[in-house]
Amino acid sequence: MDSAATLLRDIFGFDGFRPGQGEIVEAVHDGKNVLAIMPTGGGKSLCFQLPALMRPGLTIVISPLIALMRDQVRGLREAGVEAGALTSGNTPEETDAVWSALDEGRLKLLYLAPERLASGGIIQTLRRAGVSFIAVDEAHCVSQWGHDFRPDYLRIGELRRALGVPVAAFTATADSETRQEIVDRLFDGNPPETFLRGFDRPNIHLAFQPKDRPRAQILSFAAARKGQSGIVYCGTRAKTESLASALREEGHNACHYHGGMEADDRRSVESRFAREDGLIVVATVAFGMGVDKPDIRWVAHADLPKSIEAYYQEIGRAGRDGAPAETMTLFGPDDIRLRRSQIDESLAPAERRDADHGRLNALLGLAEALTCRRQTLLSYFGESGSPCGYCDLCDAPVETFDGTQAVRKALSAALRTGEWFGAGHLIDILLGSATEKVRARGHDDLPTFGVGREFDRRAWQAVFRQMMGHDLLRPDPERHGALRMTEAARPLLRDETTIKLRRDTISKASATRRPTVKTLVSEEDAPLLSALKAKRRALAEAAAVPAYIIFNDRTLGEMAEARPSTLDDMAGISGVGAKKLERYGRDFLAVISGEVAEVHPARRKLAGKDAGGLYDRLLEVQTQLSRGDCGTQKPMSCSASQLAKLAEARPDDLGRMTRILGDRRAERFGAAFLDVLREAS
Ligand code: ADP
Ligand code: ZN
Repeated sequence: MDSAATLLRDIFGFDGFRPGQGEIVEAVHDGKNVLAIMPTGGGKSLCFQLPALMRPGLTIVISPLIALMRDQVRGLREAGVEAGALTSGNTPEETDAVWSALDEGRLKLLYLAPERLASGGIIQTLRRAGVSFIAVDEAHCVSQWGHDFRPDYLRIGELRRALGVPVAAFTATADSETRQEIVDRLFDGNPPETFLRGFDRPNIHLAFQPKDRPRAQILSFAAARKGQSGIVYCGTRAKTESLASALREEGHNACHYHGGMEADDRRSVESRFAREDGLIVVATVAFGMGVDKPDIRWVAHADLPKSIEAYYQEIGRAGRDGAPAETMTLFGPDDIRLRRSQIDESLAPAERRDADHGRLNALLGLAEALTCRRQTLLSYFGESGSPCGYCDLCDAPVETFDGTQAVRKALSAALRTGEWFGAGHLIDILLGSATEKVRARGHDDLPTFGVGREFDRRAWQAVFRQMMGHDLLRPDPERHGALRMTEAARPLLRDETTIKLRRDTISKASATRRPTVKTLVSEEDAPLLSALKAKRRALAEAAAVPAYIIFNDRTLGEMAEARPSTLDDMAGISGVGAKKLERYGRDFLAVISGEVAEVHPARRKLAGKDAGGLYDRLLEVQTQLSRGDCGTQKPMSCSASQLAKLAEARPDDLGRMTRILGDRRAERFGAAFLDVLREAS
């Protein structure tokens, strides 16, 4: 069996593993039960696809996402791997083809929708098919508390027992409860070998902005990234529609997506997004799991996500190809109120709701962070690091001030009014503004009345928002969202601790600032990159596949920079595997150089391998000897496929050489060829 490194190179076109992949591949290959927690875009699929090719027999892949399965099958086929899928999206012909490949024992990977496990015969059939292991993608779908729960996932344990093979489960969901549920349900409680891969996605730029004319903020963010594929997440369905049309009015290619749309309409958005370059989808979180597009260049949140995990997952859809990507998350007091009340009104048990408040707090802490966002985010996942240099707070450090006095004044306003009021009324009291409501309740007589005149209303709003962000004040759903002090605030009230607040968000909004976009390639290479993209689009349309199935953005970017001039050089580009090199290499070389010298197909197959260089040297020697040693004999040459065979088989004696070349040719070239081959070994 070929080694992992060779397959990685030849089939997938990668030079090496990404962090974590190597160990997981090895464990899966060794037949261990494995649970791998990897961030989206970390390169999960390789961790089961590669062992599937290394192990004899068939690998079953269970995935909840039909579009993703079809994409992966297509990608594998492009790379020359026998793979198939059984999903409800199949045509009858596709299904027949899968069954006959199964019968003939040709199939290496079979993707199965979980629903398939419910049909009686499948387990029997798979038993006969010689399954070597089961890979479970999106393994958190077994979690009954998760949003992605799939009842049919509960059948996977049964499948594992029936086939008696190891299971490799993959998910991007980190929290320990979900992990435990996976262990219980997929592995009968026996802990598998667990891999927790780093959560950093260093190519994703992180940024938050307090809401301040939020629509303008989103439009300006999108305007600075015109022509790039992006997602805008919104809290409500109605907003997806209005924001999408606002974007269209500004000349963007944008459409909306939410769970209330007809299935057909949703599918059409999904497939447009996969295929088109530069489409913006404005969506609720319903647009998520099935999005497997690697070249999403940005993700914006028009509203605050519900938890730090959700945030991480949503921004994680950007830049899965490893090229630079940008994110921006808007948040404000209304978001906090909404998210709190959603948790409080949910039907989950009390301890679950507490945990959910905790996850929201973690996200708010990130939103109000004073130093490097990435450090703050990663520390939540238990990782440490130094300031990243690729987040808004590293770009422009915030100004902070000692907010202890301001916070104590605000708390006192809340407490002295019985914790029955929201921020607006409390700010009126602090500013000494004798509104009707203030006078009617006698709040202008409070000692707190007018003690906060050092700030204006806007500044106080920022203080209250940050207090909610630090969970010092929480809206109480039973009091119509009135702000109540939490235990966390007590030490501040007692003067036992101090708190730093950010100043910048108080004064000027940063909505108009246009962050500089990191581009894929330098200005100089940009025209070539667009030419390569145009070629890719044409090939993708001809083959009716998404563009990134041919080559992803990163691979094209590398091509534009390295400008390979031969197929061998082209083979050195990351993402160019043997099959794709053969299929598309010349098309792209032609774009780069304008034209390509004719290369014999037998030689083309050797591109990027040692045998390619050998072939060239053999050809050279052959040309020298074509009229014999002294240049007077009858011209003679070997066929290209004979040379290729020699270069690959490297015979080391004349007898074997003769078997490939025949007597006459061996007589003329044999000795010289043997020298070439010996030199090379
Ligand atoms: P996920 O973990 O989200 O399932 P994928 O398996 O889709 O991620 O991989 C994300 C991207 O990373 C893909 O474009 C894939 O081609 C690329 N990738 C995976 N492994 C490697 C590697 N070893 N070297 C370079 N690119 C890789
Ligand atoms: Zn940073």
